[in-house]
Amino acid sequence: MFIKRLPDFQHHAPVSLSEALDLLTKHGGKAEVYAGGTDLLPAMKKREKTPKHLIDLKKIREMKGIRLDGKKGIRIGALTTLGELERSTLVHEKFTPLWDAVTMMASPQIRSLGTLGGNLCGAVPSADTAPPLIVLGASVKMVGPSGEREILVENFFRGPKESVLQKDEVMKEVFIPQPGNFASGKYIKLMRREAMDLALVGVAACLTMEARGKICKDARISLGAVAPTPIRVPQAEEVLINREIDEVRAAEAGKAASVVCRPIGDIRSSLAYRCSMVEVLTKRAILEAYKRIV
Ligand SMILES: Cc1cc2nc3c(=O)[nH]c(=O)nc-3n(C[C@H](O)[C@H](O)[C@H](O)COP(=O)(O)OP(=O)(O)OC[C@H]3O[C@@H](n4cnc5c(N)ncnc54)[C@H](O)[C@@H]3O)c2cc1C
Repeated sequence: MFIKRLPDFQHHAPVSLSEALDLLTKHGGKAEVYAGGTDLLPAMKKREKTPKHLIDLKKIREMKGIRLDGKKGIRIGALTTLGELERSTLVHEKFTPLWDAVTMMASPQIRSLGTLGGNLCGAVPSADTAPPLIVLGASVKMVGPSGEREILVENFFRGPKESVLQKDEVMKEVFIPQPGNFASGKYIKLMRREAMDLALVGVAACLTMEARGKICKDARISLGAVAPTPIRVPQAEEVLINREIDEVRAAEAGKAASVVCRPIGDIRSSLAYRCSMVEVLTKRAILEAYKRIV
């Protein structure tokens, strides 16, 4: 049964990260932080989660916005909304697979509330921002009572709705290194309908080419929604590195990716369909990433 009312809770609105961390420590396992609330509040209405204390992060300015980190890359505050990422020229031009992903997520209303940090911390296998961030080599910074730590997004997830984030930690920001010259990427999402749907399959590809010619210097492939966590696929990457990129090579990489994926079959699509779509969409993502470079 779907219960519509939220259970009782006490609301806290800290204005700094240290205040938020103090509240988390004080209320221990009875507290949960939230950002846009687009995942957490529906889960509370369904009584999947019943925190007694809700710590609203939205007033913490140091966790907001997109800024250049010299020539090294960009830092995106965990509270940056999906809508802000969609409107960012920098993200659109330089970090295209991430831009591809956010423009296909949810609806404009959800994108105006939902945050990048919330998408990652929810840790669902179909989280759309995860495969693009993995192929972009991004890392996340987490802050807790014992200080800060940084970890690659590809090592962040542990299982469905599980990550390395500890109960007393908050995700502060995401760092994405500046892509090299002659590099670009693509994220493709398969849905049952054109909008407002979770991914049946998500594929991100990023290629770095030699200055001239067709030789691929570096390749990264990541899949979403087809394993207990978003995954990187080195087996498909190896097919591309130091080779020319063409239809045959991209198809070979697609095959390698479909061998590695471990999707579930459910009411939304069968296991076999998901695997064959991994093959098709990996090939397509590679060729479209390549087209964006040459
Ligand atoms: C109608 C609808 C459509 C959707 N479509 C998509 C879609 O297409 N693709 C997709 O990937 N998702 C989709 N979602 C899921 C959701 O909107 C996104 O995952 C969104 O980015 C979550 O961000 P949030 O800020 O609202 O998270 P919240 O609900 O605020 O938080 C989610 C979880 O993360 C934790 N958390 C949040 N921020 C932090 C932080 N900084 N540090 C530590 N923990 C934190 C919270 O404690 C909570 O457990 C959809 C949701 C709805 C309701």
